[in-house]
Amino acid sequence: MNGLFAYLPTFYAKKIDVSLIMCLYHQVLKPIVIRIFLVGFLISLSQLVAFRIVSGAALPDETIRVAIFKNAATVIVDGEGIIAIRENGDAVALRPPVMIRPAKNGVVVNDTTYRRLTFSAASAIYVNGKPYRGTAEITLGEKGILVVNELPLEEYLVGLINCEISSAWPIEAVKAQAVIARTYALNRKEARRTALYHLESSVIDQVYNGCEIEDSRARRAVSDTAGEVLTYNGAIIQAFYHSSCGGRTESSENVWGKRLPYLSGVDCEYCLLSPSSAWEQKISLLDIEAKLKIAGYTVFGVTDIRAGQRNNRGRLKNIVIVSTRGELSVPAVQFRKIMGYGVVKSTNFTVKVVNGEANFSGLGNGHGVGLCQWGAKQRALAGFSYAEILSYYYPGTKLTKFSDIR
Ligand SMILES: [Zn+2]
Repeated sequence: MNGLFAYLPTFYAKKIDVSLIMCLYHQVLKPIVIRIFLVGFLISLSQLVAFRIVSGAALPDETIRVAIFKNAATVIVDGEGIIAIRENGDAVALRPPVMIRPAKNGVVVNDTTYRRLTFSAASAIYVNGKPYRGTAEITLGEKGILVVNELPLEEYLVGLINCEISSAWPIEAVKAQAVIARTYALNRKEARRTALYHLESSVIDQVYNGCEIEDSRARRAVSDTAGEVLTYNGAIIQAFYHSSCGGRTESSENVWGKRLPYLSGVDCEYCLLSPSSAWEQKISLLDIEAKLKIAGYTVFGVTDIRAGQRNNRGRLKNIVIVSTRGELSVPAVQFRKIMGYGVVKSTNFTVKVVNGEANFSGLGNGHGVGLCQWGAKQRALAGFSYAEILSYYYPGTKLTKFSDIR
């Protein structure tokens, strides 16, 4: 019995312990556990729904091919866990960094010639020091090595945003940029279906420098507009855009001779509020003459330059070059190309020659066709949505899901 009596207090103590724990569990822990479970379940459910919405519209399988290097004398490919596949599909063991040079019939690595090398990596592939998503395809181009980066379209757009504008701009302007860049890319992809690549990575098409400058706001603008493009009569439009129009956007007909109803030009006083809308430039007459000669014009002893006629959008149609051999008319669009797009920033300028130097004073930056990026920024600040901004600069167009027209 002693043994039993000796045991009883312990038994009761244990019973009390268990009851107390069960009580605590029911009163305190159980509600918390249920709440945590419910919150977790709701979060998972919302993520699942969001994923389905985004993945359904974002076209995860849609890829784009961008020429990231052209006519390169040397290309160095690096990255963690890079894999190289040659033209016949065989893997090639190459130790990074891989130095590639052009050869007569292909590209050379360590004395072996390949017609094509396609690199992929565990994370980013570094090509000449810049990181890229997707694959890097290396072949012999016209005057050196051609590197084509193939990657999902939506990923390309995230990297592109900060090359074209700043993702710190009002989000509606960033979203407008995401839609026009997607629209432009898909239009080019369709037009260049059989070409080696769809897009240049420079101002010729859209500036793209890889994934290094991606950020969360750029990603948000792309995912918030996932899969959205602009159409006209059911077809994807040629969504040209530019930095700043300087007061009035240009018509496509005046620049490229092709009339497009949604690119006939609109008034845009908004970009005049931006610091980059006005520009000044000085170029010596000797430099102008040298550049015109390189471009194939026969000019000797340039003494003066005058602004020629203006078109219906207020931009110059032509520039008059006065030389010892008389006057020469150069189309303004051509003149800008010859001098350099970054030198003569638009065809909306006045020019005055002083002491052998042409002094240009201009408004706007770029060809002026389509959306004006600085105007879009100011419009977003004024409270316009990205859909309103887009319908203003591309009148008559419709914001559509790409998956609905495919
Ligand atoms: Zn503008």
